[in-house]
Amino acid sequence: MAEIRLDQLAHSYAANPEQASDYALRRIDHVWEQGGAYALLGPSGCGKSTLLNIISGLLEPSQGRVLFDGESVNALSPQQRNIAQVFQFPVVYDTMTVRENLAFPLRNQGQPAAKVDERVREVAEALEIEHLLARKASHLTADEKQKVSMGRGLVRDDVAAILFDEPLTVIDPQLKWRLRRKLKQIHRRFDITMVYVTHDQLEASTFADKIAVMYEGEIVQFGTPRELFEYPAHTFVGYFIGSPGMNLCPVTPSAGGVRLAGCEVALAEDVRAALARHAEQRLVLGIRPEFIQLVAPGESPLTARVDLVQDLGTYKIVDLLLEGLDAELPIKVRIEEDHAVPEGRVGLLLPQRWTRFYADDRLVEVDHASA
Ligand code: ADP
Ligand code: MG
Repeated sequence: MAEIRLDQLAHSYAANPEQASDYALRRIDHVWEQGGAYALLGPSGCGKSTLLNIISGLLEPSQGRVLFDGESVNALSPQQRNIAQVFQFPVVYDTMTVRENLAFPLRNQGQPAAKVDERVREVAEALEIEHLLARKASHLTADEKQKVSMGRGLVRDDVAAILFDEPLTVIDPQLKWRLRRKLKQIHRRFDITMVYVTHDQLEASTFADKIAVMYEGEIVQFGTPRELFEYPAHTFVGYFIGSPGMNLCPVTPSAGGVRLAGCEVALAEDVRAALARHAEQRLVLGIRPEFIQLVAPGESPLTARVDLVQDLGTYKIVDLLLEGLDAELPIKVRIEEDHAVPEGRVGLLLPQRWTRFYADDRLVEVDHASA
């Protein structure tokens, strides 16, 4: 078991990378602490598998180092690194039984038969495949095969970490949910560092205590699900986390705050001071649909037209079009069941406590002590 440190990692699949876009990983400095349950979350193609394969040693990074407990493992083979990796599609030996498949990683290490039996039973029980132990792997369904594949990753208790690369893709939705909870229980029981790769925010937040959000070859934020929700460090995190994601509106600084769709949004002095430091950059105001308050049109300088109301059972999503000087700007607002559904024109209040600003997509830090 180990702390895994990624030190100035970068990777390009191209022989002669020239620009940032030639890199699958741009620059990664990151620490996975020993014993943590982590998710690596990001859209397809952002570099998740590349990163896992570099950690496990299947891929050699173009730049930077991977350290386990402070020691570089760059020169070590995947076997020597002692990492278990579970892939998107099952890796099982078809000619072996389920029991033999699960026992294989332990037998390879020359573990005593009694210990092998005990671990195989324990893992089979956790994954609910005990009844399949005697069956040939070739006779299993895709779901069952993937469970065996996961079991092979979980049987060894001496690994530095277990890496899961979208392991539940081939599993049906109901079983998915159960397996994720199982994995979480297994994590608690065995205290092994686990990194779980997914493109699904729900999957990430049900498994992990902390989530690393990846975007275009970088980890743009590492935080708890709540931190990602309340303080997205990057516009991508705001957009990707939440359903629907954060409203992101271009603004320009003005004397008393910012101008949004031609309307003045007043801001406190500390926020204005922070924005003044980014005057040359592209400024965006971010606010989540949950936090916008709807009022009568006369009660706010910011007004909008109701475009569409989607009823999602316990809440509604209202699509609004901000009435601006230039183009109409779309905004989403989430209203709870017991609130009145707006019609026609509405006023919008943006509580400052939930309003964030981004300069060239990065969160503008506000020093509240300065005011
Ligand atoms: P993810 O797992 O997040 O979907 P990947 O790490 O698989 O992303 O891919 C990151 C980028 O690297 C993508 O642009 C992908 O096309 C590219 N890539 C992945 N594997 C290879 C490879 N073997 N050769 C060349 N390019 C690759
Ligand atoms: Mg992948």
